[in-house]
Amino acid sequence: MICALVAGLNLVAGGLQNHVHAQTPNVAPTSGGPVDRALLEDIATASRILADQGVLDAFGHVSVRHPKNPQHFLMSRSLAPALVTADDILELDFAGDAVDARGRSLFLERFIHAEIYRRRPDVMAIVHSHSPAVIPFGVTTRPMLAMYHNAAFLAGGVPIFDIRDKFGATDMLVRNGEIGRALAESLGDKPVVLMRGHGNVTTGPSLQIAVFRAIYTEVNARLELQAIGIGGPITALTPEEGIKADKVNEQVVGRAWDLWKQRVGGK
Ligand code: MN
Repeated sequence: MICALVAGLNLVAGGLQNHVHAQTPNVAPTSGGPVDRALLEDIATASRILADQGVLDAFGHVSVRHPKNPQHFLMSRSLAPALVTADDILELDFAGDAVDARGRSLFLERFIHAEIYRRRPDVMAIVHSHSPAVIPFGVTTRPMLAMYHNAAFLAGGVPIFDIRDKFGATDMLVRNGEIGRALAESLGDKPVVLMRGHGNVTTGPSLQIAVFRAIYTEVNARLELQAIGIGGPITALTPEEGIKADKVNEQVVGRAWDLWKQRVGGK
């Protein structure tokens, strides 16, 4: 009788253990390999540049695809961008799991990055911001147009992601992979997507270009508001002009980066 009872308890315990095991979150992914300290410094510098330039405030984040494992990316632990240092950078996979979080918390909206990297093999760096001047263009029917050559990457069109289309009334945040996938679909093959009532995402073939685009998306929005204020039709850059002018931007991005970096004392 006692034996039967013990056996029964063991069964219950075994069942519980299986249940707990089934509920265990994903096993931490294996690292894609060591990364140059200089890259970690650059991600931290990018965070501080974007804060200095008024693109990021207490929120928003920047990431880079892992140079050795394209299925992984590097971004800061959850932290105000102006405070990020190289030691805060974590490696994540497309499920949004960290290789070695060591108790540090992750950004809730890391799925923005994961799902765009998954869908767009050409994208090597991503900035998500709530940069303020851009917000009006996500909530009105006035399209964002390229006002000048520095914002040439906008000339091919700027899609708007409306989270409500697929997910109804939410807290507006990209808090899982499903929402991240819908956002990446809205981005399509473009460099920038606006998010209604939230912010925007800029992408690029390098960290410097993604940062450049985040800054000039914000500047362009201010200029377009001024152009609208003057009134009358707006003669923005055409898509063809945009392609030509953006080639030049990509060549001179290092000059802007060096200037912005010096302002924040980047290493
Ligand atoms: Mn956000």
